Amino acid sequence: MPADHLASLLAAATQRLKAAGSDTPTLDARLLLQAAAGLTREDLILGPDRPLSPEQLATFESFVARRERHEPVSRILGRREFYGRVFTVTPATLDPRPDTETIIEAALKVMPKAARLLDLGTGTGAIAITLLAERPGATGTATDLSPDALAVARENAARLGVADRLSLVEGSWFAPVSGVFDIILSNPPYIPAGEIAGLSPDVRNFDPGLALSGGTDGLDPYRIIASGAAAYLAAGGHLLVEIGAGQVPDVEAIFDAQGFAAGGRHRDLGGHIRCLGFNRVQK
Ligand code: GLN
Repeated sequence: MPADHLASLLAAATQRLKAAGSDTPTLDARLLLQAAAGLTREDLILGPDRPLSPEQLATFESFVARRERHEPVSRILGRREFYGRVFTVTPATLDPRPDTETIIEAALKVMPKAARLLDLGTGTGAIAITLLAERPGATGTATDLSPDALAVARENAARLGVADRLSLVEGSWFAPVSGVFDIILSNPPYIPAGEIAGLSPDVRNFDPGLALSGGTDGLDPYRIIASGAAAYLAAGGHLLVEIGAGQVPDVEAIFDAQGFAAGGRHRDLGGHIRCLGFNRVQK
């Protein structure tokens, strides 16, 4: 079979990505080939001996070379599927992870139909946009410190048809927020600053530092959210935060100290507690 036919290209790329340390070399090679050649998965199965044009070959080669340097497939393609919808991802945003679908599931269980939601540090908008798309009667506000991230969230909101129900505001945590909300959510940066250098290159070199670092102990954003939230949460409202490994006791203590009651621990598909819920204690 000629070396520029799909099956041979896929096999060679898979070997290269495996050698470069990818955990999912077969999947990576297939997704990059589909994108480079504009083909569906069915095209690959039904026509494994079809040749690529020189331009398609050059694109595929550049994609594979980038993945060999640990750039995640979602960043090479500029898009990532999250809760069944495609989000644009850029260097200004965190790449939304499947683990973050845990907070979506938890929120959908408690959100009233016409919920007013607040998403702090929205990045691509994955959390706010997904919830608004799932709950057509809901409205929301989402914040980010980065204007470039907000531009990405704005584009995603428009493409996914929720722009008229989402207010995107620039600033730090609650600073640009006004109003009262039925549910406050955040997947804040929660990696201790000193641990970032030890993360895998796929994360360290490609997710923005602003979206990763939670200060010295990784808990600064939870302190800010816990101390500010009461002023923005409706009576009987819910608060949900994503957390990192081992952070359950510390984050629960931070919210307890601000008068919140623990309202549920939610596990990701790997069985780790990934999201904590809190309720405002009625006074
Ligand atoms: N809320 C966004 C997400 O979950 C961004 C989170 C972040 O940048 N830490 O993908």
